[in-house]
Amino acid sequence: MKEFSAANEIQDLQYFGEFGGVNPSISDSSTYTFLSAKTMFDTFEGNAEGCYLYSRHSSPMNLYLSEALAKLENTESANVTASGMGAITSVLMQVCKSGDHIVSSRTIYGGTYAFMKNFLPSFQINTTFLDINNFEAVEKAIQPNTKVIYCESVSNPLLEVADLRTLSALCKKHHIKLIVDNTFSPLSISPALLGADIVIHSLTKFINGSSDTVGGVYCGTQEFINDTKNVNTGACMLLGPTMDSLRSSSILKNLRTLHIRMKQHSHNAMYLAERFENDGLKVSYPGLRSHKNHELMKSMMHEEYGFGGLLTLDAGTTDKANELMELMQQENLGYLAVSLGFYKTLFSCSGSSTSSEIPEEERAAMGISDGLIRFSIGLDHDIRRTYEKMKECMLKTGILNHETISIS
Ligand SMILES: *Cc1c(COP(=O)(O)O)cnc(C)c1O
Repeated sequence: MKEFSAANEIQDLQYFGEFGGVNPSISDSSTYTFLSAKTMFDTFEGNAEGCYLYSRHSSPMNLYLSEALAKLENTESANVTASGMGAITSVLMQVCKSGDHIVSSRTIYGGTYAFMKNFLPSFQINTTFLDINNFEAVEKAIQPNTKVIYCESVSNPLLEVADLRTLSALCKKHHIKLIVDNTFSPLSISPALLGADIVIHSLTKFINGSSDTVGGVYCGTQEFINDTKNVNTGACMLLGPTMDSLRSSSILKNLRTLHIRMKQHSHNAMYLAERFENDGLKVSYPGLRSHKNHELMKSMMHEEYGFGGLLTLDAGTTDKANELMELMQQENLGYLAVSLGFYKTLFSCSGSSTSSEIPEEERAAMGISDGLIRFSIGLDHDIRRTYEKMKECMLKTGILNHETISIS
């Protein structure tokens, strides 16, 4: 996994502004003029490379950001969208038509789950949800009308890692597409290198990293991206989840520090996970040897970026979890908020927030317990100091007992 460096690929892109600026110019226009009417016709037909027509189709800044994200994921092309859900829904509605079938991991983002479970069936598109690393079950679930295997490389919120190499082999065997949401592990996992056909991100999270916008992207072959933008049949063109140019400009600037940020998120999360585990807390982090997918993740990742910024902690009950989160917020250790990838630590109780779309019994079957807190660990400069303060909060709320704590 060494030979490909997304960070180098992104660094090697060179965009100048209209007046030689070091950042590309923002084209603040929804529509574009043509010198000849014939060129306008050709552009509509998709035959005028480099010509812009209308910004729902494409705009210069969205193409810059898309190109950089295609470099990130080592795909031919990419297309940015107004949100992660805008990317997910466009891709699924492009690939699946009435009568088709999806095989999906059951541990996925709540919104994606709700879309497949509640929205797509009215278009006669049905989904089988299962444990995505149970390959026997996955292969059994594949029907003649199955078009897609869908998963997250590192899943939300349980941090289960999907074996993308094996899933890709299954997809190739059955001539279906592997679609991977890589939101939790940008840079550290490159799904396309492991055989994914389409890679999706919510840019809202680590990639933008400043919690000031929502955004999304899907990356794939040039042919697939063109299909989604086709003026007659393209899901993204016709559903219209277009990112604004001003926003794509700001996301592109934030993307430039992603490699530095991911290392710090991972370093801090690893530090806390090790200490919490040592204290006897029920912590889950793919970087821990005790995590069931630790070796799998190691075999798939670019090690320099670590195991990511997310960890979960089981506080036992919802009440205990809430008490701890409120106290940590009071102590300014982070914010009680959903989302992830911010400079500051964010924590939320998954069962009652981002996974609340999943019915209670199903949550229990997946292992999302009521007291499960998901942490997105921030960029804290002195993580030891953060740990000491967090430990105080755990002791105060009784999640940690003085007796059980090991001398460190
Ligand atoms: C947040 C998130 C999404 C949805 O993205 P939005 O930008 O909120 O639309 C999809 N997948 C995962 C894994 C996420 O964390």
